[in-house]
Amino acid sequence: MINMKLILLGAPGAGKGTLAKKLIEKYNIPQLSTGDMLRAAVRKGTELGKKAKSFMDSGALVTDELVIGIIAERLREADCSNGFILDGFPRTIPQADALSGITKIDKALSLNVDDETVVSRLSGRRTCKNCGAIYHIENLKPINAGKCDKCSGELFQRDDDKEDTIRNRLKTFNAQTKPLIEYYSKKGLIVNLDAKQNPDKILEDAVEKLK
Ligand code: AMP
Repeated sequence: MINMKLILLGAPGAGKGTLAKKLIEKYNIPQLSTGDMLRAAVRKGTELGKKAKSFMDSGALVTDELVIGIIAERLREADCSNGFILDGFPRTIPQADALSGITKIDKALSLNVDDETVVSRLSGRRTCKNCGAIYHIENLKPINAGKCDKCSGELFQRDDDKEDTIRNRLKTFNAQTKPLIEYYSKKGLIVNLDAKQNPDKILEDAVEKLK
């Protein structure tokens, strides 16, 4: 039984969600995406969702306290006992410090990509409302326009995948999350990946480097 506790680091649009979905199939461990959890809370109109919404709409980070709380709770669930893939958490040094107090991490995969690639990927990104699968209006078209290949769910554009917000999310990443690459390098946990490659090649590199 493989037990792997992984972190995915990378700018918005670097391909964390896409790689996470491929790693789930490969290693049979769950993807824990704080972005997905927060969007679900916003949709349901919970207290958490109400607190998070304005930060998310502007491309800023929600408070450390909120996300640390939801991740700590999620990590206690039974399906995390054989490992997990953290997608979008931690995003700040205080979050990384809190995580190290909860569990030990095996590797942090850093998806490296330039800003312009991110803007073009995100502005064309479409997401399945039902299963979260990711498409692109030019580079990864669904077979039937507007419908998910896997579950026929409706594809939509995330509110924060609009150009102004994308630029803010990038600024946020560069200022608050990029320092985590150094943070995990110092611990000897960083695995660098060239995220400009196609998703299957990125997966192949990741699997090879995790051996
Ligand atoms: P994502 O889907 O990972 O791009 O996350 C979407 C938005 O949710 C981000 O722009 C933040 O506003 C918020 N968010 C997700 N994860 C975190 C986190 N670990 N810390 C703070 N905010 C987060």
